Amino acid sequence: MSILRKNKIRSSISPEIIQKYRGLYPGNELICKAPASSLYFHPDGEVVACCLNKGAYAFGKYPAQSIQDLINSPQRKEQKKYIAHDNFSLGCKICEDNIVAENYGGLMARTYSSLKIKFDKIRRIDFELSEFCNLDCIMCERDKSDKKSLYGINFVSELLPLIPNLQYAFFFGGEPFMIPIYYDLWDSIIRLNPACKIIVQTNGNVMNARIERLLLHPGFLVAMSLDSLNDEKYDQIRKNGSLRTFMENFELFNNAMKKKSQTMQISACPMRINWKEIPALVEFCNKNACRIFFNHVEFPDYLNLKNIPSGFLKIIIQYLKSQHRMEGKTDIEAENSRAFSGLLQLLEYWLSQSLVWESQAVKITKHEVYEIMRNSFESSNEHFINEILKDAPGEWLIDERSQSKIKNIDFKNELQSLLNHNITIENIVLKARSLFKLNRLSNIIYE
Ligand code: SF4
Ligand code: SF4
Repeated sequence: MSILRKNKIRSSISPEIIQKYRGLYPGNELICKAPASSLYFHPDGEVVACCLNKGAYAFGKYPAQSIQDLINSPQRKEQKKYIAHDNFSLGCKICEDNIVAENYGGLMARTYSSLKIKFDKIRRIDFELSEFCNLDCIMCERDKSDKKSLYGINFVSELLPLIPNLQYAFFFGGEPFMIPIYYDLWDSIIRLNPACKIIVQTNGNVMNARIERLLLHPGFLVAMSLDSLNDEKYDQIRKNGSLRTFMENFELFNNAMKKKSQTMQISACPMRINWKEIPALVEFCNKNACRIFFNHVEFPDYLNLKNIPSGFLKIIIQYLKSQHRMEGKTDIEAENSRAFSGLLQLLEYWLSQSLVWESQAVKITKHEVYEIMRNSFESSNEHFINEILKDAPGEWLIDERSQSKIKNIDFKNELQSLLNHNITIENIVLKARSLFKLNRLSNIIYE
């Protein structure tokens, strides 16, 4: 795709697709306002425009750079310029994919459309200041037991001048209600800018008197995460959580939202192990007048619906299509139906990508992999090889890039370096399975 020619930034998406999108969503000059008006603070200090930019394109790092330096950073100016030219190359590949797949319901860029862009003011800040959480969800690769945060009292003071201009402040974790600095920030925002909407994304497994008090503030809103309505599956996905506790708190939060004439959003992670529950989750949201949002799950790769064999994806799409109701009795139901359609469109797009990948992939046998690893590992590491190949079929598909990487990699040194970095054996096995493309075949559940 052409990006820069003679210093001119060009759109990274075809004009027809851009035109179609703009036809459906007129009125916004910028497809995404995040680079121009938002900051997202990550637990490791990385500061980006939105959550999808993590690891892909950053403005810089806190506290090495002050908040003001990050706002004035050349990286932020550059990303603003690229987005102004409909170019999604600077960290925005997921939004580009969703626009191309016409999955507008799952398009993160749209969630920034109501921001007022004026005088380069920051209108929205997303806080993900700590990974500490009471749960241990299977799709979550954060260090949830770590209570430390590099954001302290200085961070709150640096932030105070920005608060009066904010339209929105989003709080993520970890579990936001378990993170002490958030309670200070909520008090400051309510005091300095009561009109600012505070949106807290909770797993719904925490409740206390302070939360109940905060809920009385008209601008204090809650969004919840839910991936299963089945006790057993819920426990399997949201380890240490309880569906019963979630439901009790859901009643309380949803009633508080309704009193404020607000619609609760439920975020769900469509994965290999819960794809059959998607229609039930949409139904639950319809019944309780909540909006559903499907997270774009790419990681970990052994749970996503993206990198799986096309045959399996076809079964999923067929089943979900058979359960999808196009019509909706209310605006929210219609919106949820569109979110469902958007997810189906994304799955169709991933199916087309999977078919292309398969047409270019080559076969590798279990015996070959075994031999490659045995030649590189010491005999004392034999158990690693056995663990990696435990459920492997006799042969499977692998792309040529991974194949050549495997041929050249020094497994012995690689293993030592991972062990030196305290990476757990379980994660080393998962990394190796990912390299061998075995994770494409994991956790595939038909029922
Ligand atoms: S285009 Fe998407 S990925 Fe890029 S900043 Fe906007 S919301 Fe984030
Ligand atoms: S609730 Fe959120 S932060 Fe906590 S473990 Fe689950 S996904 Fe991770």
